[in-house]
This record gives sequence, C-alpha cells and structure tokens, in this order.
Amino acid sequence: MQRDKFFKDVENLLHPNETLVKTHCAYCGMQCGMNLRVNRATNKIIGVEPRYDWPVTVGKMCPKGVTAYQQTNHDDRILTPLIRDDASLKGTKEGFREASWDEAYDLIAKKFSELQKKYGKDSLSVFSGVSMTNEKCYLTGKFARVALGTRYIDYNGRFCMSSAAGGFLRSFGVDRGSTLPWTDIHETDCLFLAGSNTAECHPTSMFRVWNVQERGGYIIVADPRETPVARRADVHLDLKPGTDLALANGILNELIQNGYADEEFINNHTNGFEETKELVKDFTPEYTSELTGVAPEKIIRAAEIYGRSPNAVVMFARGIEQQHKGVDNVSGYTNMALVTGKIGRPKSGVATFTGQGNGQGGREHGQKADLLPGYRKITNPEHVEEVCNVWNITPEEMPKPGVSAYEMFELMEQKTIRGLYLLCSNPAVSAPNLNFVRRAMKNLDFMLCSDFYLSESAEFADVILPSVTWSEDEGTVTNLEGRIIKINKAQEPIGKSKPDWQIQVELAERLGRGRYFSHLKTAKDVADEFRLASKGGNADYYGATWDKIDKQDGVFWPCKDANDKGTPHMFLDKKFYHADGKAKICALPYRPPAEEPDEKYPLRLTTGRVVYHYLSGNQTRRIQFLRDMCPEPYVEVHPDTAKKYNMDHEDKVRLYTRRGEAIYKVKITEAIREDTVFVPYHFGHEQSINLLTIAALDPMSRMPEFKVCAAQMEKVEIKKVQ
Ligand code: SF4
Repeated sequence: MQRDKFFKDVENLLHPNETLVKTHCAYCGMQCGMNLRVNRATNKIIGVEPRYDWPVTVGKMCPKGVTAYQQTNHDDRILTPLIRDDASLKGTKEGFREASWDEAYDLIAKKFSELQKKYGKDSLSVFSGVSMTNEKCYLTGKFARVALGTRYIDYNGRFCMSSAAGGFLRSFGVDRGSTLPWTDIHETDCLFLAGSNTAECHPTSMFRVWNVQERGGYIIVADPRETPVARRADVHLDLKPGTDLALANGILNELIQNGYADEEFINNHTNGFEETKELVKDFTPEYTSELTGVAPEKIIRAAEIYGRSPNAVVMFARGIEQQHKGVDNVSGYTNMALVTGKIGRPKSGVATFTGQGNGQGGREHGQKADLLPGYRKITNPEHVEEVCNVWNITPEEMPKPGVSAYEMFELMEQKTIRGLYLLCSNPAVSAPNLNFVRRAMKNLDFMLCSDFYLSESAEFADVILPSVTWSEDEGTVTNLEGRIIKINKAQEPIGKSKPDWQIQVELAERLGRGRYFSHLKTAKDVADEFRLASKGGNADYYGATWDKIDKQDGVFWPCKDANDKGTPHMFLDKKFYHADGKAKICALPYRPPAEEPDEKYPLRLTTGRVVYHYLSGNQTRRIQFLRDMCPEPYVEVHPDTAKKYNMDHEDKVRLYTRRGEAIYKVKITEAIREDTVFVPYHFGHEQSINLLTIAALDPMSRMPEFKVCAAQMEKVEIKKVQ
C-alpha cells in the first residue's frame, strides 16, 4: 500500500441507516476514491462521501464527482428498450415507443442478419467507449469479432488518448500512460505541464502540483491559454496552438547545447540520439520563437530549469495530443526525459493525464481497430493464435484490422458500413466535422444504441437499449497511473436496464453465437476470462485479481501472476519494451497545423473542457448544479481582438470555419492569445463546437486535429423589437 504525507487517517462519517459502498468516480482518469451512500430501507443511492483512505486523491473530489451519484436515479434514465417506429424522425428525440427486451432483441438480430447476408460480415460496425469497465471493454471487442464477425470496431479513445498511446509505443515500446505513480509527483523538483489545463480537467491532482512549488521546486506550463496553473507557473510558454513540436525541439536543443544530456543513459539505454541532435540544432531559441510565438528567453529559462532539476516529470494532455501530429508531440516532449535520463527512477518520468475514466484500460484490451486483449496486435499471427485459444475460434475466423473511429464514419457515408452498434459514446457531439458525421449516421440502414440517457447520438438510432450507470454494476477500471482499481455495485439496476456485458451475452445468443458467450453469467466471469486473455501480453492483467486489487489499493500493470504485486514504477531496470531493450529518442521534423490562418479565416480556434462538464456533456448537462454553473458554451476572446471586431462582453457572435458555424456569447479575457479563440466542447446540437473542427488525422494514431483550425467570427446583430 502506498502512503504519502497527504494521507490522513480520517474516518468517514457513517450516517444512521446507511451503507457506504467503496468505489470510484464515474468520470475522468483520476478515478477519485468515493463512498456511495446507500439508504438501507430503500436500497437507493442518496449521496456521496469522499474516500480519505484512497492514496491517490486522499478525500478530494471535484464538482462533477460530488454530484455524480445524482446520475443513477435521474428522471432522464431510459428504463425500457425503445424502438423507432417512424424512420422519418431519425436524428430527433421523437418517434420511439417502448418495447420488451424480446421484441428489441428479435428486431436487432433480424436487421443485423439481413445486412450481413446482403452486404457481408463487414457491413456491421461497433463504436464503443472507455467510460466502461475493463470487463465491458474486453467483451465488446470479443462481441464485435466473435458474435458479429466484423473487422469494423473502434472507440471514442481514438478522439482522446490515441496519440499518447502512439507516442509511448514509439518511444518506449509500451503504452502505459504514466511511468510513475501519482504519489511520487509532488516529490519531484520540476513539473513540465504541456497542453494540460490541470486545475479544471484533473483538479484533484492540483494539491500535488502546488506542493512541488511549495517545496521549492518549479512548474513550467506550455499552453496557448493562461489557465489557472499557467497563472502560477514559474514559466508560462504561451505558444500558438499547434506548434508544440517546434517548442519541444527548441527546448531539447537548449538542453543538449547547455550540457544537460546524460551521456551514460543515452549510450546504454537509448537509440536515435545523434540523428535527433542533428535535427534539433536548427531550433535555436530565436527560430523556435518565430514558429511558436514564445519569447526566446522563456524557452531558455524553461530548458535551464528542467535541465538543472535533479528530478523532473513531463506531463501532458489533450492540448498536445489532439493534433494531426499528436504522436510526434508526445514523442517530442518525451525526448526531454530520455535525453536527460530523467526516467526509470522514482520522482522522474513522463505521464499523460488520461481523459476518460478508463482511458488507459479501455485501449488495451481489444476495442481498437488493430488491437486484441493484453495490447496484442491483430496483425501478429502469434498474438491472434493466443487470443483464439481463449475465445475458442480458429485464426481464420479472426477478422482483419478495421479502420479508426472517424474513418468508420467515412465508410458509413459511402454505404460500405450499413449497420452500427453504438455504446458508451456520443460521437454526434464529440467527433470532429460534425455536419459530416451526423450525415453519415443518418445514412445507416440500421443503428442500435445502448445508453442510460437519450444522447444526441441515440437520436439517430432505430433501437435503444437501456444500459446501467457505473453504480449499478461491478468491475475494474485502470486509472491514469496504470493502477487497476475496483468499481463496486451500490444499487440494483433501475427499470429494465441491464449492464452492457449482459446485453452482449444475450444478443450473442440471438445471433446464434451463444456458445462463445453463454458461460459468462456474472461480471466476475467476464473478469476471469479477460485476465486470461491478457496473460502474456504487454498489458498483462493476469495477476490482478479482484482480491489483490482490494488488499493493495489497486494493482499497477503489468502484473503477471499470483506472486506479482504489480509495477508502480516502469523501467526501474532501465529495460524498455523495444526488442533491444532500449528506448527511442525520436528525430521529429516540425510540421505546421493542417489549416493555418489566412485572410478569410485569420483566427486560430482551439477547444477544451471546463471543470463542470465531462466529455460530450450527456451526463453532466443533466445535473442541475453543473448546469447552473455552466449552462452554455461561450467563446473566449482577447480584449484587443474584441476591440478589433467591435465586440463587448456577452455579445453574440457567429463563429465559423470552412466546415460549419455556431453562435456563441463572447467572454472577454486576457487569458487567451490575441490570435486565438477558445470554445468548450461539452454541448450538443447547434451549440457543438465540433461543427467547426477539422478532421485532419494524425498519420499514426488517426487522432483528429481538434485543437487547432482556422476560423473567423462576426458579431450577430440582435434586432430590437419595434
Ligand atoms: S471528475 Fe475526475 S477529478 Fe472530478 S471527482 Fe471525478 S475522477 Fe475526480
């Protein structure tokens, strides 16, 4: 069990006639520890208490976490299966009627079978998400490949964590989102935070972040916006959106030129240094400043602080990852740690702030177009055989790799994909270039959606199945450290809702594939098969039994067997996961954003989160307190820019790009660059900023460039009523 100085032995208050159910938050990758309060008379969840005994967040939660319990018994829950009777109303909330599970299953089986008979196995697709347990993520991958037999499965992590995954795989040969436990972070001497609005997006990390400064250490922030953490940083590198790679190369060059490279580490444990050194030598502070807009002296100072600090942690998030060179950005910042040898030891390393609750585990076990459980590759015959042995199918039966999330919508638009099973995701809000994506969804012959609220995406469905919230089922998730933790059930499912793993087992039976699924009667049965399927892979969970997770306050993967306690620190033996055991220092030529500002679209548009909402807002927009605190989106504009456009605070503006437009209220703030505007992305229908964003994809991760495109705006004149 890991404890640090923040850990206090505070006892939770036990209210009379209540049971406290130990679990974790429904939302982000922090997975803060919480106790759900359950009334013993009604067996209903009625509130929440923080978990002071949870070593990562020691009793801290954010506004989303303290209200998450209100999801479970919310009036908006879908309580029975729904079937759409009127196809002309697709894309709206209207036209559904209640149905029995039998009627819904019969219709789904009939439609799926008809489509596959007429257009082939691959005419169906699965689009899933990573706010589900590992067990559900695992079974969704198996369901797509074994029950449906389709190659087309991908998930919303493609819009969230895929560039971090790609960067880690290239640099280290393995993708674990953090090389060290969070309980180390406040003990480092320098935190370099790139593209992370930590105080709003992962607020319960902040006590550790501030503690670095309080102990005399340094905080460096690279962000186009003056976020709360940037405001108190020792150096704020206020770069233009989309120029991170130039900044990373510039800082690396400074580190090398000023003698901070660790030659012993480089020679013994890495490849690629000489080539990288040669490439970055052009990135002088002046040239880097020209590309990024950051003053040369700030670049020099940041490199000096990082280089001189005995220990340092480089941390990043979607700001650098959601770009069409997101993988390069990740490897570029990771180069800083590899060149200075600040990795593979306590208090130093590299970490990404995982966005979704199970963004780490959900990407490791077979929901990605090219991956199988345990981070196995579907293109590797040995890996395929290992998984086939667990699934009892032949390698010939295993579908080939599919395509990424956005590319599936392209295939829907072209009618190559005719049917969709959507679960745990809301791409009608969260995908880029939404006019196109919504058209593609409307183009489907048949769409099944499983959700607990009627999301903007469910509006396109022909059948909706009621799934359960996180509090009505059990299983594991893997938090942003790579720590496997346990989610416990606090209440029985309401209405006729069912967990997605159960829906898949029952649906497989209807599709004539029950023999591969019928032994899975409980979430624990799925967990046992899933651990076995991961055994021997890079992301090996075999030794992470529910018992061990409970006893140890979580288990860090890899955890290979019963005697293995797990791996909180990666690479302590200086062995990386590439074949020669070395890490790769990557030479990365700079590429500008896919769309640069021009005369017609002179502004840079960037998007992100606010503290009160989670992802597409399907859950948080329904919680009264969160809606009161942030009821609508807005556009942040610098005062000088507002003056140029003759705009006042709260004026309405039409913001537009080559792909779409939306109307927002202006929020004037000095916390944004003059050449940049920012809009939060948690809102649906005509308020979605993703109507405007660009689908330029990273060549490796296929991550769309959410974080930058060229835009223009104009004031909307409100006509006075005569
Ligand atoms: S949303 Fe994230 S930071 Fe907030 S309570 Fe939940 S897990 Fe913690």
